[in-house]
Amino acid sequence: MDSYQVQPIGYVHSCFKEKFAIPRQPALAPAARGTIELLAPYNQPRALEGLEQVSHIWVIFLFHRAQDQQHRLQVRPPRLGGNQRLGVFASRASHRPNSIGQSLVKLDRIDSQCQLHISGIDLLDGTPVLDIKPYIPFIESIPDAWNRIAEQPPALLPIDWQPEALSSAQKHALRLQEPLVELIEQCLSQDPKPAYQTPAPSRQYGALLHDVNVVWCYPEGGGILVLAVEQIG
Ligand code: SAH
Repeated sequence: MDSYQVQPIGYVHSCFKEKFAIPRQPALAPAARGTIELLAPYNQPRALEGLEQVSHIWVIFLFHRAQDQQHRLQVRPPRLGGNQRLGVFASRASHRPNSIGQSLVKLDRIDSQCQLHISGIDLLDGTPVLDIKPYIPFIESIPDAWNRIAEQPPALLPIDWQPEALSSAQKHALRLQEPLVELIEQCLSQDPKPAYQTPAPSRQYGALLHDVNVVWCYPEGGGILVLAVEQIG
């Protein structure tokens, strides 16, 4: 069998420091921001010439934290509750042949260091980038396209805050110069836990966003209650 080698052209710096609570697709959390740091020889203006005329890019990347040697034919996508199977090629699950992911993200700006500032991302910090391509709306936006597996955007959970958690998030947002309150609300409202779990209200969940740990629970009345937002390290 032929085998081919690919090499990263750069790495993602992302607000998401662990997999848990990353949205399941890009654009679900517009406040999720990061940068792509290009490696030589691509980290120079010549490689990016023209890209300032493009609002969105395809980021082709390696699911470097989901690599396994199994040849999976079926996956259990979170979208279907996490306990229903689907052919691997009918899903966008991270466990797949060659571990290649693709995300359509907003290109906010390119800075003088040739770093690409991107938002609406679903990428883990440290993700190796294999390629970047411009999005072409008149080709790739297909108004009458359908996907019966994912027909509607997922239902959102309402988010409540403990007052101290909200003021802490606001304080860290100012320090980080990041839309942290929005990021937390956008990520948690997607419900990060597997849909088939019904946790006790006393059970606490946590996720790292930027350099803060966000702690929440599922109170009896439904929705999510953010309990704490604490800087780590
Ligand atoms: N938009 C991409 C990714 C969809 S899966 C595609 O369709 O190919 C999105 C999930 O991938 C996220 O919820 C996150 O948990 C996971 N993920 C993101 N970056 C990853 C990485 N570098 N390694 C492993 N999993 C990753």
